[in-house]
Amino acid sequence: MVSKTRINKVLSKAEERCSAAGSRLTEKRKKILEIMVSSDVPLSPYEVVDQYNEVADSKMPANSAYRILDFLVSENLAHKLASAQKYIACSHIACDHTHNVPQFLICGKCQKVQEVGIQTKLMKQLKDNVESTGYSMTSQQLEIQCLCPDCQ
Ligand SMILES: [Zn+2]
Ligand SMILES: [Zn+2]
Ligand SMILES: [Zn+2]
Repeated sequence: MVSKTRINKVLSKAEERCSAAGSRLTEKRKKILEIMVSSDVPLSPYEVVDQYNEVADSKMPANSAYRILDFLVSENLAHKLASAQKYIACSHIACDHTHNVPQFLICGKCQKVQEVGIQTKLMKQLKDNVESTGYSMTSQQLEIQCLCPDCQ
């Protein structure tokens, strides 16, 4: 469980970051982000919209949830896990340091995800390795199948 204090801190920081970037964290966007931040596991757009509609006064259609998730991803407040087709809140919203290329450790048993920054040096090695085969990398985001400490 994520504490209420942490959620509030993350949400107000997200609001600050949006207005600094010239965008706006509307009530709906904020509510969706709150759902994401409160979740230990990545959520599909349908899971997000279900949770939203459970508590909201007016129901949100799935395509609106998709648009909001895309917004959160473009603002670096959430990440899309390509392998799972699910979304997860960025774990560095309330941080002041620069955001590295994210790498995700995904537990295959409980689905918990840990976001870790990858070293630039390592990323370059990987890129060189890929390019030596003639392929070019289209995504810098690494998603690694793991077992978390609790599930080992
Ligand atoms: Zn992140
Ligand atoms: Zn951080
Ligand atoms: Zn686990």
